[in-house]
Amino acid sequence: MTQQQTTNEPKKVPASKNYTTSKKQVYSSTNRTTHRTTTNTKTHRNQTTRLKTPEKKLVKHHVSQTNKDALPIPPAGDNIRIIHLGGVEEVGRNMSLIEYKDDIIVIDMGFQFKEDYAPGIDFILPNTKYLEDRKDKIKAVVITHGHLDHIGGMPYILSKIGNPKVYARLLTTLMIKKRQQEFLEEPEPNMEVIETDSTIKISDNITLRFFAVTHTIPDAMGVIIDTPDGSIVHTGDLKLDHVDGVPTQKEEETFKQFEKENVLLLMSDSTNVERPGFSIPESTVTNTIEKLVRETKGRIILGSFASQLERAMTIIQFAEKYGRKVVVEGRSMKTNIAVAEEAGYLKHKKETVIPIKDIENYPPEKILVLATGSQGEEFAALMRIANKTHKFIRLTKSDTIILSSSIVPGNERSVQNLKDKLSRAGVHIIHYQVSDIHSSGHANGGETRWIQKKIKPKFFIPVHGYHYMHTVHADIAHKSGIPLSNIVIADNGTIIEIQDKGKKITVLKEKAPSELVFVDGFSVGNVQEAVLRDRMMLAQDGIFVVIAIINSKTGRVIKSPDIISRGFVYLRESQDLLRQARYITKKTIEDTASGAKPINFDNLKHEITYNVGKYLLNQTAKRPIVLPVLISV
Ligand SMILES: [Zn+2]
Repeated sequence: MTQQQTTNEPKKVPASKNYTTSKKQVYSSTNRTTHRTTTNTKTHRNQTTRLKTPEKKLVKHHVSQTNKDALPIPPAGDNIRIIHLGGVEEVGRNMSLIEYKDDIIVIDMGFQFKEDYAPGIDFILPNTKYLEDRKDKIKAVVITHGHLDHIGGMPYILSKIGNPKVYARLLTTLMIKKRQQEFLEEPEPNMEVIETDSTIKISDNITLRFFAVTHTIPDAMGVIIDTPDGSIVHTGDLKLDHVDGVPTQKEEETFKQFEKENVLLLMSDSTNVERPGFSIPESTVTNTIEKLVRETKGRIILGSFASQLERAMTIIQFAEKYGRKVVVEGRSMKTNIAVAEEAGYLKHKKETVIPIKDIENYPPEKILVLATGSQGEEFAALMRIANKTHKFIRLTKSDTIILSSSIVPGNERSVQNLKDKLSRAGVHIIHYQVSDIHSSGHANGGETRWIQKKIKPKFFIPVHGYHYMHTVHADIAHKSGIPLSNIVIADNGTIIEIQDKGKKITVLKEKAPSELVFVDGFSVGNVQEAVLRDRMMLAQDGIFVVIAIINSKTGRVIKSPDIISRGFVYLRESQDLLRQARYITKKTIEDTASGAKPINFDNLKHEITYNVGKYLLNQTAKRPIVLPVLISV
């Protein structure tokens, strides 16, 4: 059990039989708290095994596997050690570390938005236990760019690892500062703004250098970590700027420097490697959008990702060029544009962007609304507009909606819902499947091949993305000339070492802690598997609470048991079911408790859960959480 788990546990109180609040003893079905009716996950889980009915669709893997049997991790010695704490089994929560002798360099500190297997969870963080145990060695944190899957974990992690020095380019540092404003209790990050020509000497062994990469946000970069055995290159997120599959002169110049480098190891972005060839260049996207802004007659409402900051900046310029005022809608979009302004990166006139309350002062054809919510997110600007709940914007038939984003996997249904609602309003909709109005910020397979050939590393580890993406990326690297024995596909926590002064790459049998760390409301830690399982069951089958008052002397039930249920069946139409459940409860209590001195309440709760649960399953084919609350008087 890790530290996070223990801090996350509710305070233990004495076992129920020793805990008296008043004359009445309330035995809820938890052995932790006796005065509150929280769920007894332990009891319920025991019951589900006893019932031996098919398991509900629970995704068990991934959830808080404890690391108690983990082997002790040996010191790195003279080897270069590489560990990914997140980002190699998922898209998001990117975080890697390079360890050499007395130094550890951390690259990125992202978070991941919730997953289906973790209902109710706000974010998932990288597991930083390995770093917490070695925080004195951490000499630098390098942040490649300002997207949340690269900076989102910082407010939760920095102070846990000793608030080490952070190196990033200007806009990235401003993004970090902006986010930090929501975490005022956390110490200020210790940041140094660097540029792509900066060189940071960390120690006698380690020097950091940087290079600019094309992505979707200004100031994205890759990092080169020079070690005595060769240099390690981490690209961050990147794509290539190109014309018809030929990278631009600027890309050629950036990657030329690797020709004379002895690149020992490359770690590069795998997010889009499954797609063949080259991605649509951003210049094509902006040309299409410019044409739309120029030729569209009525009002334009353009939905995009706030993370596509460079595109948002370009769109504002187009609006200005064609005489439109811009209204920015959506908090994240407003924040990001404000940060770009603070960095001095905005090229348009101040008066081009107007506050939304002034929108009525201009004719529709002079307006462009730049909004978030192109994924159909419930409360985002576009959805509020589509739902007619937006305070200032009502759709008319002469509006044109441009959805300048792809559909993030998993959002298909909500995007469909958005498009349906927009089409009911009679607007004209343009989306990425009918027009080149979106391109992702990650290299396709063809681009990654070009990058491999330019960098020519000895060893290769794909990063950013799911396992399958990494196998595709590994295949590309192999075809570009890297022997398979020099390629490692890692999991989060895999300890990789480059040994014998750069001669070979190995995966240790030991693993760094990699259990999931969740942000769940105000708590940060390993939310227990049982909690997530309960949330899944509540969502699928609801809860069924049976409350019975028992005479502790006779073991008899005083009046008929009460039943409360949520999300299970409609009680008013289920009177027979309730009557029978009451009867089963009463009978179970009297069979188990009468004559028993003292009454074993734990045992009794198990029996009620089992018998009532079995009955409900037989009658309804549903398995609600059955929660007995026993009050002894
Ligand atoms: Zn990114």
